[in-house]
Amino acid sequence: MSNHIIKHNYQVTKSDRNKLNNHNSFLMWFTGLSGSGKSTIANLVELELHKKGIKTYVLDGDNIRKGINKDLTFAPEDRTENIRRIAEIANLMIDAGLVVLAAFVSPYKKDRENVKNIVKNSNFVEVFVNTSVEECERRDVKGLYKKARAGEIKNMTGISAPYEAPDHADVEIKTEEETVEEAVVKILEYLTPKLKLENE
Ligand code: ADP
Repeated sequence: MSNHIIKHNYQVTKSDRNKLNNHNSFLMWFTGLSGSGKSTIANLVELELHKKGIKTYVLDGDNIRKGINKDLTFAPEDRTENIRRIAEIANLMIDAGLVVLAAFVSPYKKDRENVKNIVKNSNFVEVFVNTSVEECERRDVKGLYKKARAGEIKNMTGISAPYEAPDHADVEIKTEEETVEEAVVKILEYLTPKLKLENE
């Protein structure tokens, strides 16, 4: 990084933006296998927050891999760079006052740790969408597992690439035991106190 980049101190701060919005901003990170339910759950959590007047944004494969990260593959080093850029984008969005929901397989523990370091621990909520590979393959929402079994997709998480499950996620959803609605309630219960501004 250049030594000649000197940060300008803008007068409107994150805290000012949060006060204007009347809620805190942070990142909710959904990790799990492809087809585990990350997007389905993140979508409904966002909808509920939106109805309550919370300012939100969802980052997911579609708006990231087709845009800013379209130069990246699914090789391990590119997956790491994919997650690093997402974390930096999320960090700007947190600064802008948004509750960011990010739904990415993010199979490597070290990459998720890196996200936590970039946005800071207190701004990071990890949601583990825990669905077995057998169930994800049965659902095969995008037909990716079939293609992976046929050898058409390399580096498919759960089939030909590893998934490192979190040991201490803030919220764990077992989608084979809990309904989508139950998952949303559980996540909102966890989030509600975090949204509240202090000293009020
Ligand atoms: P991901 O974003 O993790 O790749 P998706 O949300 O696209 O996964 O797909 C998950 C699929 O599993 C959806 O078709 C959803 O309807 C289904 N599903 C079944 N039960 C659940 C559950 N309890 N929670 C989330 N998704 C579920």
